[in-house]
Amino acid sequence: MIAKVNVKIAVCLTALWYFSPSLAMAQPKLEDLADAPVLFLETARKFRQWDEPAEPAKLFGSVYFVGTKGLGSFLITGSEGHILIYTGMPGSGPMIEASIRKLGFKPEDVKIILTGHAHIDHVGGHAHLQKVSGAKIAMMREEQALFESGGKADFHYGHVKEFAFDLAKVDTVFRDEDEVKLGNISIQAILTPGHTKGSTTYVTKVVDNGKTYTVVFADGTGVNPGYRVTSNPSYQGIKDDFSRTFRVLDSLKPDIWLTPHNEVYGIDAKLTRSAKEGAAAWVDPDGYKKWVQLQRGKFEAALAKETR
Ligand SMILES: [Zn+2]
Repeated sequence: MIAKVNVKIAVCLTALWYFSPSLAMAQPKLEDLADAPVLFLETARKFRQWDEPAEPAKLFGSVYFVGTKGLGSFLITGSEGHILIYTGMPGSGPMIEASIRKLGFKPEDVKIILTGHAHIDHVGGHAHLQKVSGAKIAMMREEQALFESGGKADFHYGHVKEFAFDLAKVDTVFRDEDEVKLGNISIQAILTPGHTKGSTTYVTKVVDNGKTYTVVFADGTGVNPGYRVTSNPSYQGIKDDFSRTFRVLDSLKPDIWLTPHNEVYGIDAKLTRSAKEGAAAWVDPDGYKKWVQLQRGKFEAALAKETR
């Protein structure tokens, strides 16, 4: 009798699993993972395809995509060598190296490696790419300690070993509003802290077909699950930093914007359109404004929740 009942339950559960797509496909909501940083990392990694290879592509002017399906890495080519912004997860280094070659460029011609912030999903390939290219790693002064600690100095994830990445040294430190220069490339680095203490947004001009575009690589806005944004003993001033970042990002007027997470700026739709429309497909000042508003809204919601 007991065996019979168990079989019935087993059949019911199996049926549920097969016929309920919401159960079978269940993925935790990222915002529900405040107390589970490792599950948050693994969920984002899997469902946002951070480690999946992607075809490299020319985006516009001298800007090329060399990232993975989910994570942006961008190559800006120039007269005296190239600048690489973001290097994805640990393990993505060789993939980015191969993508640079596939586009007809040499990794050894990469002279400077940048990031918008030093989290595992954006500096994971730094050590590898520095080794194969001989490039200098350049970084905002406020982000250096986090990067050189391999993630251990992070105000939120420092104690979680799954967030650690390969150690490397910073060769050149820059400050808020400094210009990073290489041949005919000039990129302004703007401090946009909050997500980390030294998050950095880059602004540059890119020429395509005789037209000049202002391009922003935006960073620093993300309030991750579990971040405390009102008063945070491990990040004094986090609230003011986020507020400052939204003011700064509001003041920028990009024609084209990119972020290290591909789904945010909509790489697929823009790439498809650019086959016909060229650089015009990337021009999206309204998309940028909406995204800044959306991120500000999430920050304000987090503030309201904590002060309730
Ligand atoms: Zn991050």
